[in-house]
Amino acid sequence: MNTEWALAWMKGCAEQAHEHREELIELDRVIGDSDHGENVDRGFRAVVEKLEADASESIVDVLKLTAKTLMSTVGGASGPLLGTAFLRAAKSVGGEALDGAGAAALIEAALEGITTRGKAAEGEKTMVDAWAPAARAAREQADAGAGVADVLRAAADAAAEGAEATIPLVATKGRASYLGERSVGHKDPGAASTALFIAAAADAASAVKEG
Ligand code: ADP
Ligand code: MG
Repeated sequence: MNTEWALAWMKGCAEQAHEHREELIELDRVIGDSDHGENVDRGFRAVVEKLEADASESIVDVLKLTAKTLMSTVGGASGPLLGTAFLRAAKSVGGEALDGAGAAALIEAALEGITTRGKAAEGEKTMVDAWAPAARAAREQADAGAGVADVLRAAADAAAEGAEATIPLVATKGRASYLGERSVGHKDPGAASTALFIAAAADAASAVKEG
């Protein structure tokens, strides 16, 4: 995968954030402050605008500009967390082209950025509960010799399952932790958006592969 994939991924994130804006707002209304859908919609819209204005020449350029834009346009916890994720992801990319192992390393690096920044462990009902299983699934596929599209598809499926699995959890990090036991029974908005963003990565890989 190349720069075209990274650009398609960010465009896909923007489309997903926009399409699922109300749903993410609703999830955040129940256990947070109703802004997650708005935050990621605004953030990725700004990312796409910046990418269109700037001639990014590599995957690294695209991911770095994405990180910078998310950090400066998204208020709330998710801006710095996703910003750090994309910054670490950028740093994980070695050369011009990404292979299956590189895609797994990218997801692992994103997860590491989020945990370094937010100090949440798995099971605390945050976006980590989607990124962590995604990273494991990606690594498993890459080790089995899978290419980028299959690695990312496995990661996306695991992220979606991880997001669903936040429903019975008690939030102990972030705004939802103020609710304590009352956070049980609701999906974490950041885990839900993560599943959308990783699915966008997989869709972009399939599209670039076929196109
Ligand atoms: P805010 O909580 O400031 O309103 P958002 O609504 O945009 O910001 O994002 C909320 C999401 O951020 C949560 O659903 C959760 O997934 C994620 N989050 C919050 N705190 C942390 C943390 N310390 N580590 C990882 N993710 C976190
Ligand atoms: Mg919020």
